[in-house]
Amino acid sequence: MFKEDFPYFKNSEITYLDNAATTQKPKSVINAEMDYYENYCANTHRSSFGDANKATLNYENARVSLQKFINAPKKEEIIFTKGVTESINFIANSFAKKFEKVIISSLEHHSNITPWHMQGRSLSKGLEVVSCNENLDFDFRDYENILKENPNSFVSITHISNAFGKIHDIKAIIQLAHKYNSVVMIDAAQSLAHMSVDVQDLDVDFFAMSGHKTFGPTGVGAIYIKEIFLKEVDTYQTGGATINEVDFDSSTLLDSPYKFEAGTQNIAGVIGFAKALDYLSNIGYEKIEKQELILYEYLDEQLSKLPNIKFYNTIENSIGSRSFNFKNISHDDIGILVDKMKVALRVGHHCAQPIMKQLNIKGTIRVSLAFYNTKEDIDKLIKALKKALKMLA
Ligand code: PMP
Repeated sequence: MFKEDFPYFKNSEITYLDNAATTQKPKSVINAEMDYYENYCANTHRSSFGDANKATLNYENARVSLQKFINAPKKEEIIFTKGVTESINFIANSFAKKFEKVIISSLEHHSNITPWHMQGRSLSKGLEVVSCNENLDFDFRDYENILKENPNSFVSITHISNAFGKIHDIKAIIQLAHKYNSVVMIDAAQSLAHMSVDVQDLDVDFFAMSGHKTFGPTGVGAIYIKEIFLKEVDTYQTGGATINEVDFDSSTLLDSPYKFEAGTQNIAGVIGFAKALDYLSNIGYEKIEKQELILYEYLDEQLSKLPNIKFYNTIENSIGSRSFNFKNISHDDIGILVDKMKVALRVGHHCAQPIMKQLNIKGTIRVSLAFYNTKEDIDKLIKALKKALKMLA
């Protein structure tokens, strides 16, 4: 029923089950981007003619849309970026640089690991990793021990694992970090497609979001920065539109958010991102969460009937992605065969090599759902997997 809103499903015969990689875009998002390019394409915050004013207004309205969507107190706390990767790199290379210790978890995406390596951090120097148990649950005891030994740290943790769909209890993670005077950034790349978020209720300090994983355009995302930190966060790039006054010896910067948004921004992308949020608001998370739970349980039930399947976590406290392997069968071979049967999923390490190494595997077969998927999609997947297994037997 929801698929009708998405042109991709009219134009493609693919059974799309790779939503953790990127989501499809509703017509309203595509139209909003096209409308900008076709009807009022102009730069923002610079010129003062009609179309430029309209572009600026829509861009700034998009900021307010995102502010309201995550219940941020102020629009100045919302900074647009290219996506979660840029959001994390920005904070890593500015604010978080000053911290002696950065704490991550073993379930992180490479985007929340490699920026810390770029600063020369490693397990023996400046980086601590919270372990997870055999069901991939975050180990709170280990976490508290690390915090006790390293108060005043910078904690950077993913909300939902893209590789396994595991949901971290980020409210508890944030509370505990604050108890030990630490600051928390959440990688929310996988969050808004599946659940609503209230940054005030979470009391989160930095919250990194992705447009393309939230039914919005590619190349756009954002970071929420709690107001008390806005003055402490340095810019890590500057240029056009960030400054107040410049001469050849020095320059002064504008206030947030402008000082952080250097150069011409992804204007159409930002406007499209806001349209995606409108689209989600119109459906409502209650409906989305209910539909996803039905699909997720059905997926697990149907997959569990396949011979020699191995999961790495139960479905409790998980959503979106389900990862598995078949005994003595290469995940790559499954990927090649189901692609020929027009089923789109991802096989491999899912940009989470450290946890794959910990599990002693090269990768998994990952099926990742969105609310627009249907039980028929899952039936098609199961049929394709059965056929592939037969061919590989
Ligand atoms: N973190 C997680 C958990 C992700 O799933 C992804 C995307 N696969 C990223 C970070 C990177 O996000 P983006 O594509 O917005 O840079």
